[in-house]
Amino acid sequence: MMEPVLTIVVPCYNEEEVLPETISQLQQLLKELINDTLVSKHSKILFVDDGSKDRTWELIYKEGLRNEYVRGLKLAGNVGHQNALLAGLFAAKELSDCVVSIDADLQDDIQVIREFILKFRDGCEIVYGVRKGRAADTFFKRSTAQGFYKMMKNLGVNLVYNHADFRLMSKRAVQELAKFNEVNLFLRGIVPLLGFRSDVVYYDRLERQAGQTKYPLKKMLAFAFDGITSFSVSPIRFVLVIGLVSFIMSLVFGGYFLTLKFLGNTETGWTSLITSIWLIGGLQLIAIGLIGEYVGKIYKETKQRPKYIVDIDSLNLPVPRRHLLQQTGENEMLETGILSSKR
Ligand code: UDP
Ligand code: MG
Repeated sequence: MMEPVLTIVVPCYNEEEVLPETISQLQQLLKELINDTLVSKHSKILFVDDGSKDRTWELIYKEGLRNEYVRGLKLAGNVGHQNALLAGLFAAKELSDCVVSIDADLQDDIQVIREFILKFRDGCEIVYGVRKGRAADTFFKRSTAQGFYKMMKNLGVNLVYNHADFRLMSKRAVQELAKFNEVNLFLRGIVPLLGFRSDVVYYDRLERQAGQTKYPLKKMLAFAFDGITSFSVSPIRFVLVIGLVSFIMSLVFGGYFLTLKFLGNTETGWTSLITSIWLIGGLQLIAIGLIGEYVGKIYKETKQRPKYIVDIDSLNLPVPRRHLLQQTGENEMLETGILSSKR
């Protein structure tokens, strides 16, 4: 039985304070997983230095020289958490059967990775780590984050509630992810779109072990705004609705203002002014909203997202089997060799 090769991808931005602890804990865990023959002895921890200005890269590099489990990837500049994570996932995918992404600050319970692996070995291609609660976060962070998830849901974006970027993905899932060509890749929204068999593991979110958050309010807002605008045209549709409302108001009020005029209670010129303000305002917003709809379409086209992702293709299997079409249990999949690469 072949154990799957695991790569743990850790994006790091100015993390010199917490990194030594992170390295030692993750390596300890990896050794245990290897000893328990859950993962291959070729498994690695890949630290991605996201253009840090402190000694982060130095620490990673030196550790890599004397530690067979630690590897580093240094990005030329700071590209932000999401892009640094992608860089790590894509670098790791050829050499691994599965990849786990986790933050450098040890806020996520690393023991959960063991459960990720067990689920992966049971045939899950994506396993989400989900926080049970947010007791460790400040009230502000908690309420803004929860508001964000709710709003995204209302806007029709399929997110896993309270899941950040702590997850396992199979090699295949990462390969499919690489086909999403958009520049603004909002991972938490895209990964559920992949649609592979997935599961969830709950854990308690802890305090940051050392150092400061690398997500100040400004970055958080930018992140949220990015997430919304790369998944939804609802904001511009809202403009269209306001325009329509304003237009209808102009018609209704127009009638009302005219009545006032004929009853003789108005200043000269007021009726035509007030009616045209509503009318022109409404028409302008409608026009902007319409243009927005088209811009939204162009935006969708330019992203060139894959139109579908194949899970099982029995055309290209040596012996086609009917039961594969019904997404049956793992044993049958094993027989046909689909999971054999993992074992
Ligand atoms: N990070 C990164 N690039 C950035 C900002 C953050 O790679 O520009 C990394 C950071 O080192 C950490 C992870 O992203 O491993 C999450 O950051 P942080 O813990 O500061 O965010 P929070 O948990 O406060 O939301
Ligand atoms: Mg953190």
